[in-house]
Amino acid sequence: MLAPGSTIGILGGGQLGRMLAVAAAQLGYRTHVYAPDRESVAAQVAAQHSQAAWDDEPRLAAFAAACDVVTLEFENVPVDTLRFLSGHVAVRPGAAALEVAQDRLAEKRFVAGLGGRTAPFAAVPDRAALDAALAGIGAPAILKTVRMGYDGKGQARLAAASDADAAWDAIGRHPAILEGFVAFDHEFSVILVRGTDGEARVWDSPLNVHQDGILAASTLPPPPIVRDQQAEARAMMERIAEALDYVGVLTGEFFATADGPVFNEMAPRVHNSGHWTIEGAVTSQFENHIRAVAGLPLGDTAAPRLPVTMRNLIGRDIDGVPALLADGACHLHHYGKAEVRAGRKLGHATWVGTEPA
Ligand code: AMP
Repeated sequence: MLAPGSTIGILGGGQLGRMLAVAAAQLGYRTHVYAPDRESVAAQVAAQHSQAAWDDEPRLAAFAAACDVVTLEFENVPVDTLRFLSGHVAVRPGAAALEVAQDRLAEKRFVAGLGGRTAPFAAVPDRAALDAALAGIGAPAILKTVRMGYDGKGQARLAAASDADAAWDAIGRHPAILEGFVAFDHEFSVILVRGTDGEARVWDSPLNVHQDGILAASTLPPPPIVRDQQAEARAMMERIAEALDYVGVLTGEFFATADGPVFNEMAPRVHNSGHWTIEGAVTSQFENHIRAVAGLPLGDTAAPRLPVTMRNLIGRDIDGVPALLADGACHLHHYGKAEVRAGRKLGHATWVGTEPA
């Protein structure tokens, strides 16, 4: 059990790190944010900040020496960085989870190997492999870069085999995975937390609605098909967490289909679809993540007051803040980012026990 006053290192400097740092402070911990970016909204609320590159070993060693445990808020931290840090300080979750989650092909193979249901998929290391993959999987299909894809980036849809050239160009001709298009009713997530003792807890699964590949809103209770399928999806995520000896919050994104839940991808971290837990659950994903990495007992994940709605404030949505503040039932979270850009997540708003006006 990490003693109060100890320092938790956070790799990555975005809003997830910011909300983790706030939760850590509430439990009596200090935080030290390590991120290469010039602007860090996490560092604004942390005790210490290292602005340095992921491969700067002297800075990483100094960071490790200043921390009692290290966690992360960004899943694309290079695995070598985690391995280096692991030689100096406990890193939770560890390199194994990132290795799987950073590579869409490794991730799908890993989950399929554990008996999970995925979209049909095939490796597309080069342009010729795309034709072979299309012949096997058929259209419609989605081509995704194996690495560094998020929020719908690095993806192209193929309505027919004749779209192959355009799709290959659209994703920058990088090594990719072709997935059969899943006919789904809804998208939902499983947000799980696992402690150092192996105990796992899950929150209720929200219904997630995306716009332009970016999460727009998460709502509870979800429709009946999601409620019916969340048990199977949870069991899948528990198997994944156990296989990775995972510590902290692990999120799985699923499609609810006529055949049951289909695993889409996982994030080895707290997740946007779990922001509702700050006000909507007894213990938030951020607090339970900190509890897990600090070796504390996990808190109750129950959601006692439904309905809950979390809406992202993306780009110019942030102009609606005065109106949101005028709504007494709205919990506003502003991430403090200096620059408003289209597609950038700048805040979120949550309503508990009531529908948004
Ligand atoms: P991802 O980056 O994998 O989360 O994909 C972004 C969004 O694209 C998902 O939230 C889905 O709405 C959609 N999508 C991704 N993969 C598939 C698939 N195999 N079939 C249908 N829709 C998909």
